[in-house]
Parts: sequence; structure tokens; C-alpha cells
Amino acid sequence: MNSLRVTEIFYSLQGEARTVGWPTVFVRLTGCPLRCVYCDTAYAFTGGERKSVAEILQEVGRYSPRYVCVTGGEPLAQPGCLVLLDALVGAGYEVSLETSGALDVSRVNPKVVKVLDLKTPGSGEEARNRYENLDYLDAKDQVKFVIMDETDYRWAKAKLKEQRLAERCEVLFSPAAGLKDPTELAEAILRDRLPVRFQVQLHKILWGERPGV
Ligand code: SF4
Repeated sequence: MNSLRVTEIFYSLQGEARTVGWPTVFVRLTGCPLRCVYCDTAYAFTGGERKSVAEILQEVGRYSPRYVCVTGGEPLAQPGCLVLLDALVGAGYEVSLETSGALDVSRVNPKVVKVLDLKTPGSGEEARNRYENLDYLDAKDQVKFVIMDETDYRWAKAKLKEQRLAERCEVLFSPAAGLKDPTELAEAILRDRLPVRFQVQLHKILWGERPGV
């Protein structure tokens, strides 16, 4: 529980969600039980290096960050993730967790900002959505839809209403990189008057698709 398999720890600009653009330390944990068709971090499925929570904290501390983002893979696939999140909050960082939404978030430290995916039909992993997780979201948290096509857009729009998502937290609509035209998605959001935040992945605009950014 006090050690985790880590793919990479790096310092970059946050590319998504509410703290987009802020210098952030990313802790990318190894492993994910899902296989989304658009996954851009398949290199984190296996391998990695086992590190203690103390070692991770020491590495994070080198950058003296305000923001720390725990990501993956699927970070919650490792039980030690909860211990790591507690330790990062305890150390005074503003901590966010990027999760697929497929695993239980009920025991995540309440100070951690959860950025939780709802997997669309196009991802191939819709059946993994754990809707009970939505009950553990509050105003600081965010639900993210990665939208691949028109079917995904209509599905996301229906979920927004059916689950009353905008009343629970902030909702992010993101075009799947290279698959959905960002302008079309932006225009659809405006046309349909959706109460969601449109986002593109800043780090890919700046540095392209590669590890460590
Ligand atoms: S949940 Fe995330 S890391 Fe896992 S397959 Fe899907 S996109 Fe990749």
C-alpha cells in the first residue's frame, strides 16, 4: 500500500480541466484495466518503477509546485493511490486526480479535485462507467467527455440531462484528438446552449503527442 508502480513523474503545464495552463507536477501511475480506442497513454499500461510514497513525495517536492496531478493509466487501479493522494494533500499541494470513472472514488481524499471521465460509446468502454461515482462529486470536481463523433455528442448531451451533471459539478466536453473536429464541437455546444466547458488539450498543441508533457 505504501509503494506504487510509477510510469513517470514530470513537470509541465496542465493541459486540461480547470487549472489548464498552470505549471503542475504530474505523477503518472502504471496500469489500466480499460482499453479506450483513443488512448494516448498506452505506454503506461505496463512497466514502470516501484516507488515508495516517500520517494514520490521527494521527487514532486523538487519542483516546488502548487499543483500536483495524479494520472495514469487508471491511478485508482493501485490501492496505494489513496495513500499517495492523502500524503500529497497532507504536504499542502493542490491535488487533482484524473480517473476513467470505472473504479470506486468514494474513498478519495475529499480535498482532491476529481476529474472523472464518462466513457462514451465511441471509446469502446461505455459499459465500464460506474454511475455511483457521480454521487461523490461536488462543485470543485469535473466530469469529462471525450467526444469522437456525432453519436458520442448526442450520447453526452443525453447524459448531461439525465444525470443532471451541470448541477453537480463542472462538465467538460473535449474533442478526441485528431478524430473530432474541434470547431464543429464548439459550434454544437453553442447551438445547443449546453452548460459545459469546451476544452482542447493544450499540451498537444504546444508539444504534440509524446510522453513527459
Ligand atoms: S482509461 Fe485512460 S489510460 Fe485507460 S485506456 Fe482509457 S484513455 Fe487509456
